[in-house]
Amino acid sequence: MTAKTTSHEFQAETKKLLDIVINSLYTEKDVFLRELISNAADALEKFRHESLTAEQVFDDHLELDIKIKLDEEKNTLTITDTGIGMTRAELEANLGTIAHSGSNTFLSELAEAAKKDVSLIGQFGVGFYSAFMAGDKVTVKSRSWDGSEGCCWESEGTGTFTIADEPGLHRGTTIVVHLKDDAKDYATKWKVESIIKQYSAFVPFPIKLEEEVVNTVQALWTRSRSEISDEEYNEFYKFIGNAGDEPMYKLHFSADAPLAINALLFVPKENFEIMGFGRVDPGVNLYCQRILIDQHSENILPEWLRFLKGVVDSEDLPLNISRQALQDNALVNKIRKVITKRFLKFLDEESKKDEDAYLQFWKTFGIYVKEGITSDYEFKTELGKLVRFESSKSEAGKAISLADYVLRMGTEQKEIYYINGPSRAAIESGPYIEMFRKNDIEILYTLEPIDDFVLNHLGEFDGKKLVSADRSDIKLPENTENKEEDSKDSLDEKLSGDLLGWMKAALGSKIADVIESKRLVDAPAMIVNQDGYMTSTMERVLSASRHEGNLFGQESSKKNLEVNMKNALIQQLANLKDEDEEFAKEALAQIYDNAMLQAGLNVDPLAMVERNYRILNRAVRK
Ligand code: ADP
Ligand code: MG
Repeated sequence: MTAKTTSHEFQAETKKLLDIVINSLYTEKDVFLRELISNAADALEKFRHESLTAEQVFDDHLELDIKIKLDEEKNTLTITDTGIGMTRAELEANLGTIAHSGSNTFLSELAEAAKKDVSLIGQFGVGFYSAFMAGDKVTVKSRSWDGSEGCCWESEGTGTFTIADEPGLHRGTTIVVHLKDDAKDYATKWKVESIIKQYSAFVPFPIKLEEEVVNTVQALWTRSRSEISDEEYNEFYKFIGNAGDEPMYKLHFSADAPLAINALLFVPKENFEIMGFGRVDPGVNLYCQRILIDQHSENILPEWLRFLKGVVDSEDLPLNISRQALQDNALVNKIRKVITKRFLKFLDEESKKDEDAYLQFWKTFGIYVKEGITSDYEFKTELGKLVRFESSKSEAGKAISLADYVLRMGTEQKEIYYINGPSRAAIESGPYIEMFRKNDIEILYTLEPIDDFVLNHLGEFDGKKLVSADRSDIKLPENTENKEEDSKDSLDEKLSGDLLGWMKAALGSKIADVIESKRLVDAPAMIVNQDGYMTSTMERVLSASRHEGNLFGQESSKKNLEVNMKNALIQQLANLKDEDEEFAKEALAQIYDNAMLQAGLNVDPLAMVERNYRILNRAVRK
């Protein structure tokens, strides 16, 4: 039998790709090794799959592995796999055309990226042809698993390739990259080993570099949960999370339908962002069939889950998808949704299993849950289950869930109430919770300024509206048991009306209205918001950022002063305003400032101190 050698032209698109690869992509050469290993692993995976059902396979005895040999004298890198191999026809088709679907858009994207910034190119899967980034000649010897005689494909990447018979091969493929002068590094062991460790550590077949297995970490996530020890999980976490300790939580789950997903997610012990290390990069890598396709993926989870470490692997994704294409890939979006929901459900379940452990999570990572609520409408229902706040009925320091709150609510109560303050003690000594206490209605204490924004975005929980207690239109269900003791004398209608009118005139533009309070018990007055949207805390935060030049374009919202007509000080004021109007105005200004302070709002401290001394002066003279 005479050896047959044939010459072929690359398909036009392939030529274009080769041109880009060879002429523009010189800085991101490492990519080629990842691509060749990924093809080898792919071929092994296909063989493993076929051999499950095939009656007969050629060279059945071969171990499934990837061997890499280096020759520093000849400047070659040789990669051999015992995978599915290629027939002559397959060599011609697979290594002469571009297999990508939509390869035209891919090419123009690639060309664009190459023009703009060559460093972008590492993000593209350029496939087999990337071998020409490092090699000026590439030789591929392959024999198919069907046992047909093997062939040798060869090209210098310049527009043509040849295919010749190559008898005596084992099953699989051997690729020899004849390295260019500026790519000689790839014949050195340290270089190749570091690339494998970085990109291909989880390839599920042994990669033997000069006879030594270098990928010690296996694709743990594809194994069944019952087979994996805690120690293995921890080791894996340390590896991918670059961590020295153990994870706080671990979620390993697999789904077959509607999407084939394997995910292994870890919550670290520490939150480096709140420790002041700056914004962390996403920590979850996206794999397709155990091949890394997007490291630190920004696409596979929402931004506010960037603290998670781990792996998502889906067989449904095309292996050669570019990172840019991942961004608006419908399948990726679907996977993100499934995984996010699953993870949030997992947290909810964990909180029910071990409340204290969950509160530790909340303390460390709750800020991300809050970020999720304010930035992502999609997962509101799930996120609402995860928030925790202290309340008038919780132990100090022990936060409760909205579900706990709803469970304790009386049937007449339709809304969930909250109030913001700097501390539990400050809230409990302020005017806003008096009525809640009196009517035995639970109220949440939101201790961080951002919390009001969070609850505002959340809007409702379990069909109950979330309402800030500093709103003017609040109507609490009355507790009838307490009715009788509620018999302190109030000012009569005429006096009340006069007093309110005078107060309003005296306060002028500082206030929208002065009204008789239906809910104050002891305190003389309090500030409430007419605007149903903003709480006083939100206003304070926004006005602070306005001072920093961060304009929200929000006018200070209109406030009411609610006045307690049963309070002795207020009742005295009704007389004082007729006897000594000047001094009555001083007292009123102070009552107003006090109420503003209790609402967490700003007052003019100098004016207040001076007024305070004037009032004290008069008090000591008496
Ligand atoms: P992709 O891997 O995205 O399909 P590549 O350019 O990397 O694109 O490879 C093109 C095709 O060549 C592959 O789809 C596969 O059919 C074939 N191929 C490449 N390398 C091997 C190999 N080591 N063994 C078997 N087939 C291979
Ligand atoms: Mg490939």
